[in-house]
Amino acid sequence: MRKRLIVANWKMNMLRREAKELAERIINLLNDLRSSVDVVLAPPYTSLDVVYRVVRESKIQLGAQNVFWEAWGAVTGEISPYMLTDIGCKWAIIGHSERRNILRETDIMVQKKIKTSLDAGLTPVFCVGETIGEREKGKTINVIESQIEIGLKDVKLADSANLVIAYEPVWAIGTGNNATPKEIEHLHGVIREITGGILGQIASDIRVLYGGSVNPENIKEILATPNVDGALVGGASLRADSFGKIVQLAGE
Ligand code: PEP
Repeated sequence: MRKRLIVANWKMNMLRREAKELAERIINLLNDLRSSVDVVLAPPYTSLDVVYRVVRESKIQLGAQNVFWEAWGAVTGEISPYMLTDIGCKWAIIGHSERRNILRETDIMVQKKIKTSLDAGLTPVFCVGETIGEREKGKTINVIESQIEIGLKDVKLADSANLVIAYEPVWAIGTGNNATPKEIEHLHGVIREITGGILGQIASDIRVLYGGSVNPENIKEILATPNVDGALVGGASLRADSFGKIVQLAGE
């Protein structure tokens, strides 16, 4: 039985004081958080420390929105996975479509980030998903297959809990559009199958999240199918009430 997981991606929002206040409000709402759902907050790098101080005594865990693929070195402006574990992170979002599209991150970069993060003890939330153009050309499965095959090439996974995959159709992120529950379930099944072809049996226990305009109104329907293990939430995670509601509904 895979435990549900809800990850908040706060993106490039909030100063430290605001991030601290939001984390405090979320903690207050979720202080009786049921153990049937894992919760991760991923603030910007500058707020990691302040949010860690809020969540460290709770069941809520800390994640980063990105990570570099080398442990140390002359790489101006980048952040090593060891720096993230040092600041209290257990998770790192890797390969988010905004980084792939705006910063031209490639599948090979994503693969290197996954490997170095695993070495450092961080759990990657590995994002895959097609653009609207790719979807309209009927290429969704080819795109996802290639992202997973390259992203997970030669990745050694000791435990299924050490990797999470997030299916995020790019056209659904921040747009209010959603894939239908039927499409989501189908694609999550495909993702599990492709991952099984690379990692073997362990893939059946890896959590696969959905991301793209998830909110308190649609979370129940999205989570209702067997291959959906939780959600990666952007916009709706920026308000304690909507994020709290999503987590509460996921825990039911
Ligand atoms: C995301 O950024 O990963 C995301 C899913 O954003 P939103 O929920 O705003 O679509």
